[in-house]
Amino acid sequence: MRAVVMYGPGDVRVDQTERPTIAEPTDAVIRLAASCICGSDLWPYRGADDVDHQPMGHEYVGVVEEVGDDVAQVRVGDFVVGSFFSSDNTCAICRAGYQSHCVHRGPGAVPGAQAEYARIPHADGTLVATPGPPADDLVPSLLAASDVLGTGWFAAVAAEAGPGKTVAVVGDGAVGLLGVLAARQLGAERVIAMSRHADRQALARDFGATDVVEERGDAGVARIKQLTDGLGAHSTIEAVGTQESMMQAIRSTRPGGHVGYVGVSHDVVLPGRQLFYSGVHLHGGPAPVRRFLPDLIDRIWRRHIDPGKVFDLTLPLDEAAEGYRAMDERRAIKVLLTV
Ligand SMILES: [Zn+2]
Repeated sequence: MRAVVMYGPGDVRVDQTERPTIAEPTDAVIRLAASCICGSDLWPYRGADDVDHQPMGHEYVGVVEEVGDDVAQVRVGDFVVGSFFSSDNTCAICRAGYQSHCVHRGPGAVPGAQAEYARIPHADGTLVATPGPPADDLVPSLLAASDVLGTGWFAAVAAEAGPGKTVAVVGDGAVGLLGVLAARQLGAERVIAMSRHADRQALARDFGATDVVEERGDAGVARIKQLTDGLGAHSTIEAVGTQESMMQAIRSTRPGGHVGYVGVSHDVVLPGRQLFYSGVHLHGGPAPVRRFLPDLIDRIWRRHIDPGKVFDLTLPLDEAAEGYRAMDERRAIKVLLTV
């Protein structure tokens, strides 16, 4: 089969590799219907994370081709959505809604989801089947549910976005933009998107942002305070993962408020004293997307939300290298790969 492999920073190729097979009785093998490139794939691409001949991709939708003997919930022929970690969905951590920390946690798609086929460990606890074969135009939204929507949703939940709340969103990548959508769906009264790019601002407004703040750093914090009677947001979504963005989020939140942080942390160091006096709640980490998948699939299926709009470039799998370049150069928000 064809699969995307990152040989090293900036070097993405499509290789012929072995098609995965059932390795454990709890596995399924799926044929990908679509895949995509994640903002987090840019960390190794830019040399910020080590990478050496790494099969890429962790967002996926597809059709079940084969299941192991112990798989009972998903069946051959089902159209399924999974996420970046596999989970048994039965342990105490999973039952509490934290499937991304499952005691049996592993990669969600092996060897990678930017490929024609992938093996899914713990298929029953990882995959959720759609009510039937989806219409073609629903596939991008279902694919978004696999990571960026599920992650943005968790960020909004962790930030306790809801009725009467003002939510600030730090980060205008796909996760931040879908955090805007999630906050509005959860009933937030006001959603302030922080972005300086016209195309991303437009999409943020389309997803329900009521305000846009272009300033960053001290000026960004001052602007959020100005929009919130000097208090700061009730809820802030952090969707970048840098020191600057994390502090932007904490400082933009009022005492007693909540920060939901989902940007993969890179060298973030929290200053204890500033944290102590901020009086904010911090919650985040890798999103337990599996918790939200049944609800998100239902909202997409009934066409109540259209998160697939974050894909502004579609390329065949064979042109994955161009997809990485486009995202790296911020020519594209998110790239869908047709398989
Ligand atoms: Zn578990």
